[in-house]
This record gives sequence, C-alpha cells and structure tokens, in this order.
Amino acid sequence: MIDIELYNKLLHAGHFTILDSYIKANKVLNGSEKALCSISGGSDSDIMLDMIHTLDESEKVTYYWINTGLEYQATKEHLDELEKKYDIEIVRLKPDKSIPLCVKEYGVPFLSKYVSEQMMRLQKHNFQWEDEPLEVLMEKYPDCKTALQWWCNAYYLPENGVQKMSRFSISRNKWLKEFIIANPPDFLISNKCCEYAKKIPAKHFIKECGADLEITGIRKAEGGIRSANYKTCCSESKSKGCDTYRPVFWYTDSDKTGYEEFFGVTHSKCYTEYGLKRTGCVGCPFSKHINEELAIIEEHESNLYKAAVHIFGKSYEYTAKYRAFAKEMKAREKEAKKRGLSCNIGDNFTDIPCAV
Ligand code: SF4
Repeated sequence: MIDIELYNKLLHAGHFTILDSYIKANKVLNGSEKALCSISGGSDSDIMLDMIHTLDESEKVTYYWINTGLEYQATKEHLDELEKKYDIEIVRLKPDKSIPLCVKEYGVPFLSKYVSEQMMRLQKHNFQWEDEPLEVLMEKYPDCKTALQWWCNAYYLPENGVQKMSRFSISRNKWLKEFIIANPPDFLISNKCCEYAKKIPAKHFIKECGADLEITGIRKAEGGIRSANYKTCCSESKSKGCDTYRPVFWYTDSDKTGYEEFFGVTHSKCYTEYGLKRTGCVGCPFSKHINEELAIIEEHESNLYKAAVHIFGKSYEYTAKYRAFAKEMKAREKEAKKRGLSCNIGDNFTDIPCAV
C-alpha cells in the first residue's frame, strides 16, 4: 500500500511518473492473489523490486531468478545483497536446458531474435540462400512461407499475389541478404536458448505456484525486441496462463535516475565497477555493443569471457564479418552515388576505395 507521506513526498518532488506507477502497481497488486516477480539483477529490475517490496505489505509476492547457465558472478552476488536488503528470498530456478546445451543442440543466436528465428526456419528446410523470387522459392521450399517472405522482402496473399514488404523483412538489416548470399553460414543459427533457458522455466514456475500475475522489469525506453513486443504496462498472456505487469514500463531514463536518487537504489558491480550499460546473459550475441561488452567481461570475469567465446564464438565472427561487409558496401554505395551509379553486390567497383 502507498502511504500518504510517500505520496506527498513524490508529489512535491515532482516525480509524477513514479507516483503514477506506485498508484497503478498498488491497484494491480491488490487485484492479485498470487503474484510472481521476475528478478534479473539488472538496474530496471532493481527499481521494480524496490517498488513492489514497498507496496507488498501482505508479502504475497514471490521473487524468482533464472540461472541461464551464463550469469555474471557480480549478478549472483547482487542477488544475495538484495535478499539481505529487503529480507526476502529470491528463488533460484534452473533452466529447462542451459544456454551452452541449447547452442550445442539447436545453434547459436545471431544478430537479433527475429533474424535468428527466420534463419533457423530456413536452415531447417535446407535452404541454399538463393536470390530467387518468392513464388519460385515457395515452390521449392514448401511449409516455410514466413521465413521466405522475410528473405524476399515480400509477402504472398492468394488474392493479391506477391507484395513488397518492409516491416518484417531482411532489409531491416541493411546488406544482410547480400552478405548471407556471399557468405552462407556454415553453422546452425537459432534463438532457442531464450525459449529453453528463460521462457519455459518461467512458465513452469508460474504454473507450479498457481500465479495469477507475473511482474517484470521491462521499460519501453530500453528499446529492443523485449520492449517493442508490448504496447502497455499490462497484458494478458494465454500461453503463460496469467497476466503480466510491467511497473516501470513508462519510465524514461530520467525517471529511472530520479527513482534511484529518491529511494537510494544502487545496482550490481556490473554497472558500478565493470561499467556495463546492461546485464543479462553474459556475452549474448544479440547485444548491439558486443565487442565493447566482451572487452569488459574479459577484464572483470575472465572465465566467463572464455566460456562466452567458446559458446558464441561463431556468431561473434559472423557478426563482425557482416558489420565489416555492411560498412564496405555503405562506403561503396556513397561513392557510387557521387558518380551517379547504383551499387549492387556483384558490381565491380575496383577503382572505388574500400572503407574497411
Ligand atoms: S538473451 Fe541471448 S544468450 Fe540469453 S537466452 Fe536469449 S538469446 Fe540466449
């Protein structure tokens, strides 16, 4: 419950988003009989925990954390600190399959969740990464329509035929198609570790506890696929069998700082000593700043660095190669534009200086 003193303090400090989130969280908690709160050990999760713990007077919330098999030692220590600070237990869950096992069985994540999903589907059909029209490929590879549509930047409807598509297409990653055609992957790509190391164990725990509410620390401003998947702070998940509430969903970066200062919330060593901007699975290849992160991991948690390189090494190499390719193509495109030419992968611009 939010007490009147806290209400007034937040009001007078001008923390309206925070105040609003406390009121909403209080209402949501009151409407739940059994709530679970998913702790990641990251900074958004720290704020969420602080808020939920303040409001949960009847202690009906169960806190849990999933050990994916690739977790910072600093995160594990931080969880112990949080338990002491709030006098709570954070239940440690095991993954259905750990990340190393998933990667071994299904393949390595590459670039983003969506790209990995589509490439995994294509690989399942033994796709040869051909540059052919959608109709031709649909005939050659039946039962693989969504991934082929992604690959062809087009979708097919029986009534309208083939139409150009941009939103869920490979062109969202510039030069990726050209890169893959020139450098087909010789290893399996998959996003299955997210499913087996995160989603499924959470789902099992929700069922086991009979929870009607799951609380997570996702912020819209954090960006990425996680936040892009949601439009509001509340949603109903049929597959999980309970509602989901994201108390800090609308927090901007400045609301977050405001909260940290107002309530004295501090974060794990991952932020305060290592200098990471975000935590999560160590060395996840979906990170946009993976090279910077790897340098930090090598310095502070060298064993985990070795593990990450061993598990995700192929993805790191392939990503680096793609980024170098895209950089070169961009430079060539710029140069070609200057000369009033168009730039295609097969073009021979031998006289154009290469950027890489
Ligand atoms: S966040 Fe990355 S490393 Fe972690 S489970 Fe998902 S894809 Fe795998």
